[in-house]
Amino acid sequence: MSNRIPLFVFIVVLAVLPALPSTPEFWITQLNYIGLAAMVALGLVLLTGVGGLTSFGQAAFVGLGAYTTAVLTSHYDASPWLALIAGLLLTAGVAYLLGLITLRLSGHYLPLGTIAWGLSLFYLFGNLDWLGKHDGIAGLQPINVFGFSLASGRHIYYLIWVLLLLSLWATSNLLSSRPGRAIRALKSGAGMAESMGVDTASYKIVIFVWAALLACLSGWIYAHMQRAVSPSPFGLNYGIEYLFMAVVGGAGHVWGAVVGSAVILGLKDQLQNLLPKLLDTNANFELIVFGVLMIVMLQYAGHGLWPILASAWARVTGGAGQRRQLAPPPAAQPLPQRERPRRGDLVLEVQEIRKEFGGLVAVNDISFDVRAGEIVGLIGPNGAGKSTTFNLISGVLPLTRGRVCFFGENISGRSAREIARLGVGRTFQHVQLLPGMSVLENVALGAHMRAHVGVVSGALHSDRAQEARLLHEAATQLQRVGLGDYLYEQAGNLALGQQRILEIARALASDPTLLLLDEPAAGLRYKEKQELAQVLEQLREEGMSILLVEHDMDFVMRLTNHLVVMDFGTKLAEGVPADVQKNPAVLEAYLGGIDDDLPEPERAEATTGSAA
Ligand code: ADP
Ligand code: MG
Repeated sequence: MSNRIPLFVFIVVLAVLPALPSTPEFWITQLNYIGLAAMVALGLVLLTGVGGLTSFGQAAFVGLGAYTTAVLTSHYDASPWLALIAGLLLTAGVAYLLGLITLRLSGHYLPLGTIAWGLSLFYLFGNLDWLGKHDGIAGLQPINVFGFSLASGRHIYYLIWVLLLLSLWATSNLLSSRPGRAIRALKSGAGMAESMGVDTASYKIVIFVWAALLACLSGWIYAHMQRAVSPSPFGLNYGIEYLFMAVVGGAGHVWGAVVGSAVILGLKDQLQNLLPKLLDTNANFELIVFGVLMIVMLQYAGHGLWPILASAWARVTGGAGQRRQLAPPPAAQPLPQRERPRRGDLVLEVQEIRKEFGGLVAVNDISFDVRAGEIVGLIGPNGAGKSTTFNLISGVLPLTRGRVCFFGENISGRSAREIARLGVGRTFQHVQLLPGMSVLENVALGAHMRAHVGVVSGALHSDRAQEARLLHEAATQLQRVGLGDYLYEQAGNLALGQQRILEIARALASDPTLLLLDEPAAGLRYKEKQELAQVLEQLREEGMSILLVEHDMDFVMRLTNHLVVMDFGTKLAEGVPADVQKNPAVLEAYLGGIDDDLPEPERAEATTGSAA
């Protein structure tokens, strides 16, 4: 509730300002520019701040919106609104193609790519005859709303801020929806998200197009506000400035865009007044000052200004620290479930799989089966190749050789996403979750592929029923594994053991028929291990198949029906736990050896003999 108050005050002040005759014209102009820039920066918050994809080229999309409307309204006499639709369509098309090409680039090649197409579009604007070359196009008509002309700054102001507020609303809706959780995983958890069935490449294109559309919208208004377009405001330096705004404001939060553009444009204006007086020259020094400020800012407030403002507000209102008291999401219709196999059905067949990393054979022609309603333990010393085996089964790593069949279907060579969609859920030895997201949302990401909420319905908030089902499922799984008290806690605040348990809940939320658990009990206390063992036993009761990597031998012996022992990539032994436990080769390699007194040659013989 307390978070609504500042928003309400902000909107009232915004609405009243231009209506007051005493508000200076300069303020209105400045606020118009801030609103327009915030629209572009908002796209960058989504693209760069949340999605981790840096773009220096947003100004070119602003130009695309501006030039489209300039050409259509002045050369072809189209209405600005029609031109807006045309501009948005054109921008979506161009962004889609550019995204398809550039987003494949990794690391610093992506920003370089955005610079390249940013410059190309900029020079295109300045060199085409029918775009008026460097002079641009002048004499644009003002925008009309229901016959009311928005020619004056005080009137177009309302259009700018209404559209900006709507964009903020839609973008923040999007971020808290099913597609939004996938988008929030792009930056630091793309690999994990693929294993949850998320098509990360498509979501990258989605946010790229989204950001371009916001830039186009801003350009459309800008053109009709200025009543003219020319190439210069769409150059690379403006692309950099938009990025500044997003970073300074707080690149992870939608309101950061507004704060960032207000701060940068306010500062720019002040510097333009101040610097010439200080330095006694008219040269453009503000970019240098900006650069220095940016470095200072990144040193002392790496996440931008918004988080500082938000936490200050939380301190004032005492809003923090109440998360645990929030009620769980209300009960909703359960999500559709996969058909369960019959107990004893062959679920997974691993056939002579091999993985070489250069000269190292991490997995050496390993074979074993997993049946429905069975817990199979995969054990072996560190570096034996257990996690690599998991990665081969779940499609995270490609096989060097061999075959993996899931319900009789050969899944070798399939992507992690496809395999997840077939019903293979997994956890990771090195916990992979989104620490800034709530526990509940992390688990809801696991259920991603069980619902079909698209980007548009996410943004328009028309996905509530589906969203309720996803959150209810996530809460149910969390309660099942004993994390029901932590639904709204930030996942990064959990203890490491609890984070592992969270990963199990996330895997369960995907409704798997085979569960791969990589050291789930590591870091748990005795009682927590007992509880986890109970959960796994119950899952087995329900017919789940589980492949378990674990070092705690009591845990393994209590739970598993079948054991596979690996050492140096090779299968040492396989069988029922009680037999495997007595196998001399296993004792030798895994449990440290019983007969340290045996001379070397005999020991070697004993090992090879029983490994066969
Ligand atoms: P375990 O899970 O049994 O402890 P791993 O499967 O993690 O073992 O590792 C098996 C071997 O493969 C180790 O020697 C490890 O260093 C090596 N290895 C694992 N992943 C890679 C990789 N991506 N590149 C190169 N070597 C790797
Ligand atoms: Mg491992």
